[in-house]
Amino acid sequence: MFRFCPSCASRAIRFERNKVFHCPECGFEYYHNVASATGCVIDTGTSIVFAVRAKEPARGKLTLPGGFVNPDEGAFEGLRRECLEELAWDPGADLRLYASFPNVYLYKGFEYNTCDLYFSVFAPSVSVADFRLDPDEVAEVRFLLYDGINFGELAFDSTRRAVRAFLDQKAGGGR
Ligand SMILES: [Zn+2]
Repeated sequence: MFRFCPSCASRAIRFERNKVFHCPECGFEYYHNVASATGCVIDTGTSIVFAVRAKEPARGKLTLPGGFVNPDEGAFEGLRRECLEELAWDPGADLRLYASFPNVYLYKGFEYNTCDLYFSVFAPSVSVADFRLDPDEVAEVRFLLYDGINFGELAFDSTRRAVRAFLDQKAGGGR
């Protein structure tokens, strides 16, 4: 990302330990820390609500509502904001953190390491009519039965991993 030191303009700047830019000339250090990102399994008790992506990457594929946590936000409020933006639907305060994985997000040729936090919310009476979709983000929503999910239709490896972890916990008797 930096070809020159932002402080002294030396070309000697290096990216070290997969997290820090260090300039041996002037001592400048910049930590490229992980960003937090969230995803939400909206669980009806028999099915999961998926969003069909309206844009690239993975346009037309299925994903979970969510996104990056903003500065000055906690993970819960970040996810509630994302759900409101994408679906005009508030998952409420009963979000349950059930899994977290490291992930890598490629944006304009640069890799961002993220800490993905996956939440579930039990919403047995939710229906399509409860959502008002942001057409720039979500083309439609689909309710898929637990055993009717085609993992090849999911947008990202991280989505597959998150859904798999949710279903495994369900099968193990978790809520
Ligand atoms: Zn420097």
